[in-house]
Amino acid sequence: MNAPSRPSLTSLSADALSARVVELGGKPFHARVARREVYERGVLDYSAMTGLPSALRDALTAELPILSSAVTTSRIARDRTTKLLVEFPATAPDARPSSVEVVHIPPHDPDSPKGATLCVSSQCGCPVGCPFCASGLEGLERNLEAHEIVEQFLHGRAIGPLSRSVVMGIGEPLLNFDAVQAALAVVHDDLGLGARKITLSTVGFPERVRRAARSSPRFQLAISLHTPDDEQRDELVPAMKGVPIAEVLAAGDDWFEVTGREVTYEYVLLGGVNDSAQHAGRLARRLASRRATVNLIPYNPTQGLGFARPDAKAAEAFRTLLDEAGVVATLRWSRGLEGSAACGQLRAGGV
Ligand code: SF4
Repeated sequence: MNAPSRPSLTSLSADALSARVVELGGKPFHARVARREVYERGVLDYSAMTGLPSALRDALTAELPILSSAVTTSRIARDRTTKLLVEFPATAPDARPSSVEVVHIPPHDPDSPKGATLCVSSQCGCPVGCPFCASGLEGLERNLEAHEIVEQFLHGRAIGPLSRSVVMGIGEPLLNFDAVQAALAVVHDDLGLGARKITLSTVGFPERVRRAARSSPRFQLAISLHTPDDEQRDELVPAMKGVPIAEVLAAGDDWFEVTGREVTYEYVLLGGVNDSAQHAGRLARRLASRRATVNLIPYNPTQGLGFARPDAKAAEAFRTLLDEAGVVATLRWSRGLEGSAACGQLRAGGV
């Protein structure tokens, strides 16, 4: 039997933290000092918080962990991408601990002053079940809580400064949107990462996209399309079965209307499945009149899933066809391949 999780500093609201600090012999403003140290300065050890009285530091160390999670494994790929396995304690006495992967992707140029991009997860496992993706192999285990999403940012920032983030790891963020929104508010307000620097990636549940468009802070949106054909999308994105692509695109249009921010359409190029010239032509017809860009992601092979990487020429030809039809498209060969840290290779179980 596992011990269920106990409160951490990150799991308490500002008021609840203040009350706990007073219980432990401190003053309310000490709670503000502790929050600032953690979120703004990235201090994850009370003993380094010299603005707190030493007796309070000792009491907090004994009674209130800063984080609920721990990094259990860390792997660095040759291109300096780091993949972390972050474990959260069980949420009930008879439950198992849960884990997700977090990927820290530094700029290509090691001398660049820019920070890294951090890919974080919104759920343990994923209920969408895309057949080419390792993350959804075992379905949904549970939703992550807001502080568990924030903690992924704190672990990532401990590796090095962040410039961007993508909520593109394990899970479908719009199926756990309240927690994702609360977490992104902390990341925006307290960690200081601008909303334009945060991209949320979804398969595009239309009403959920419309609701997200009215949320705050206003992040960027990417919708994973993967095909221009309804029948094939039912197979490639099973949780969207029966939802016509036209409805997904209409929700994307509404997003643009409300937020003024263009949608990025993600398209994983699967060799011999959705990468033909005909697919490119039909995709171009779907998108030609829209203000949107397409992000083409050549598939990263995952053992046992039965999908292949398209060859480089086919991928470039696909991009060129979109370009010629007036659709802005980028081709993005994912990094972190040898560490299995690229899109569709994240798995709730292990690094
Ligand atoms: S590709 Fe995204 S939505 Fe599909 S199963 Fe994987 S994590 Fe879920």
